[in-house]
Amino acid sequence: MRRHTLLIDADDTLWENNVFFERVIEDFISLVEPLGYARDYTRRILNETERRNIRQHGYGVRSFGRSLEETYLKLAGHMAKRNTVEQVARMVRELESTPPKILDGVPETLAYLSSRHRLILFTKGEAAEQAAKVERSGLQGFFEAIEIVPEKDVTAYTGLINRHRIVKSHGWMVGNSPRSDINPALQAGLNAVFIPHHATWELEHSELLSGTGKLVIVSTFRELRHHF
Ligand SMILES: [Mg+2]
Repeated sequence: MRRHTLLIDADDTLWENNVFFERVIEDFISLVEPLGYARDYTRRILNETERRNIRQHGYGVRSFGRSLEETYLKLAGHMAKRNTVEQVARMVRELESTPPKILDGVPETLAYLSSRHRLILFTKGEAAEQAAKVERSGLQGFFEAIEIVPEKDVTAYTGLINRHRIVKSHGWMVGNSPRSDINPALQAGLNAVFIPHHATWELEHSELLSGTGKLVIVSTFRELRHHF
């Protein structure tokens, strides 16, 4: 097989990420439940607050912490308590220090793939936070480059294609998010491999669009071996 370039997503593709956020969100919703709001209402307010903060401050655990605090202050109004705000901050600090949990089969599959193809890790988020996660994962050595961008949109993909001189017909994006991995990659003219993750973040859900490239769907990271 000819050498391909594989752009590989990190969160919920190489390691668990969203399950840890979901756990904090469940704890947060329980924490504010005594205020009398339905759980799904609290979640909706949180999602709206996150969308706004992501536009303004980007992705990442600090932006998430800000959203939790703002949601609490909005729901609690004049009932807001300082120690609850502190408790929320503690939950976020704990989340920040959670070590990456590598998904099953990832290291050996990366070893196989990197011996045959060029691998580039392509993730979005807060640069320092994502770089620290990559380093702690111990997977850095499999990649020729690590690319961290604020948003994975068509412009970001096109920039990456140009920077790394990727031949589109031999370039693939591999990831779990239709919105950030699959659709913009196909729109930019790349091929894509979709690996659905059961806990993909609500804000990443989207219909799969088609493009000129190929779209392959596999159920585990390990299965990439059968295609590359
Ligand atoms: Mg992801």
